[in-house]
Amino acid sequence: MANLECPNCHQQTIPLWRKMFLGPAASVKCTNCGSRISVPYSAMLAVAPFAIAIAAAQVVGSIAIAGTVLVIGALVMCWIHYQFVPLIVKERGEAKERGEVKA
Ligand SMILES: [Zn+2]
Repeated sequence: MANLECPNCHQQTIPLWRKMFLGPAASVKCTNCGSRISVPYSAMLAVAPFAIAIAAAQVVGSIAIAGTVLVIGALVMCWIHYQFVPLIVKERGEAKERGEVKA
Protein backbone atom coordinates (compact mmCIF):
# COMPACT_ATOMS: atom_id res chain seq x y z
CA MET A 1 0.00 0.00 0.00
CA ALA A 2 1.35 3.41 -0.96
CA ASN A 3 2.49 5.81 1.71
CA LEU A 4 1.34 9.41 1.95
CA GLU A 5 3.63 12.41 1.91
CA CYS A 6 4.73 13.92 5.21
CA PRO A 7 3.66 17.62 5.17
CA ASN A 8 6.91 18.59 6.92
CA CYS A 9 9.73 16.77 5.11
CA HIS A 10 7.73 15.70 2.00
CA GLN A 11 8.93 12.10 2.20
CA GLN A 12 6.38 9.34 1.71
CA THR A 13 6.44 8.06 5.25
CA ILE A 14 2.80 8.08 6.39
CA PRO A 15 1.01 4.74 5.83
CA LEU A 16 -2.36 5.18 4.13
CA TRP A 17 -4.18 2.95 6.65
CA ARG A 18 -2.76 5.11 9.47
CA LYS A 19 -4.38 8.23 8.03
CA MET A 20 -7.75 6.49 7.87
CA PHE A 21 -7.68 6.05 11.65
CA LEU A 22 -6.32 9.52 12.33
CA GLY A 23 -8.51 12.06 14.11
CA PRO A 24 -7.72 15.65 15.15
CA ALA A 25 -6.84 14.44 18.66
CA ALA A 26 -4.52 11.67 17.45
CA SER A 27 -1.21 11.92 15.62
CA VAL A 28 1.29 9.72 13.83
CA LYS A 29 5.07 10.16 13.92
CA CYS A 30 6.95 10.61 10.66
CA THR A 31 9.74 8.03 10.46
CA ASN A 32 12.00 10.43 8.54
CA CYS A 33 11.79 13.80 10.34
CA GLY A 34 10.10 12.74 13.57
CA SER A 35 7.31 15.31 13.21
CA ARG A 36 3.92 14.53 14.65
CA ILE A 37 1.40 14.50 11.82
CA SER A 38 -2.34 14.88 12.33
CA VAL A 39 -5.50 16.05 10.56
CA PRO A 40 -7.35 19.36 11.09
CA TYR A 41 -10.59 19.57 13.08
CA SER A 42 -12.48 19.94 9.79
CA ALA A 43 -11.76 16.22 9.33
CA MET A 44 -14.73 15.64 11.64
CA LEU A 45 -16.97 16.74 8.76
CA ALA A 46 -16.03 13.53 6.93
CA VAL A 47 -18.04 11.63 9.56
CA ALA A 48 -21.26 13.36 8.42
CA PRO A 49 -22.23 10.81 5.69
CA PHE A 50 -21.88 7.96 8.18
CA ALA A 51 -23.92 9.83 10.81
CA ILE A 52 -26.63 10.45 8.20
CA ALA A 53 -26.50 6.76 7.22
CA ILE A 54 -27.00 5.73 10.88
CA ALA A 55 -30.01 8.05 11.11
CA ALA A 56 -31.39 6.78 7.78
CA ALA A 57 -30.93 3.14 8.85
CA GLN A 58 -33.28 3.78 11.78
CA VAL A 59 -36.21 4.72 9.54
CA VAL A 60 -35.97 2.11 6.77
CA GLY A 61 -38.06 -1.02 7.40
CA SER A 62 -35.70 -3.70 6.11
CA ILE A 63 -32.48 -4.84 7.81
CA ALA A 64 -30.93 -5.51 4.38
CA ILE A 65 -31.55 -1.93 3.26
CA ALA A 66 -30.35 -0.54 6.61
CA GLY A 67 -27.14 -2.58 6.29
CA THR A 68 -26.59 -1.36 2.74
CA VAL A 69 -27.16 2.25 3.80
CA LEU A 70 -24.60 1.88 6.63
CA VAL A 71 -21.99 0.32 4.33
CA ILE A 72 -22.44 3.09 1.75
CA GLY A 73 -22.24 5.74 4.48
CA ALA A 74 -19.01 4.21 5.81
CA LEU A 75 -17.48 4.01 2.32
CA VAL A 76 -18.37 7.64 1.57
CA MET A 77 -16.87 8.67 4.92
CA CYS A 78 -13.59 6.84 4.14
CA TRP A 79 -13.47 8.28 0.62
CA ILE A 80 -13.99 11.87 1.83
CA HIS A 81 -11.39 11.38 4.57
CA TYR A 82 -8.89 9.99 2.04
CA GLN A 83 -9.65 12.48 -0.74
CA PHE A 84 -10.26 15.81 1.00
CA VAL A 85 -8.74 15.74 4.48
CA PRO A 86 -5.16 17.11 4.41
CA LEU A 87 -2.34 15.97 6.67
CA ILE A 88 -0.97 18.76 8.86
CA VAL A 89 2.15 19.15 10.99
CA LYS A 90 1.11 19.08 14.63
CA GLU A 91 4.60 19.26 16.08
CA ARG A 92 7.73 19.71 14.02
CA GLY A 93 10.41 17.04 14.48
CA GLU A 94 13.81 18.00 15.87
CA ALA A 95 15.68 16.12 13.16
CA LYS A 96 14.99 18.99 10.75
CA GLU A 97 16.84 21.58 12.84
CA ARG A 98 19.74 19.21 13.51
CA GLY A 99 20.13 18.62 9.78
CA GLU A 100 19.69 14.87 10.09
CA VAL A 101 16.92 14.59 7.56
CA LYS A 102 17.87 12.29 4.72
CA ALA A 103 15.88 14.19 2.12
ZN1 LIG B 1 8.49 13.95 7.87
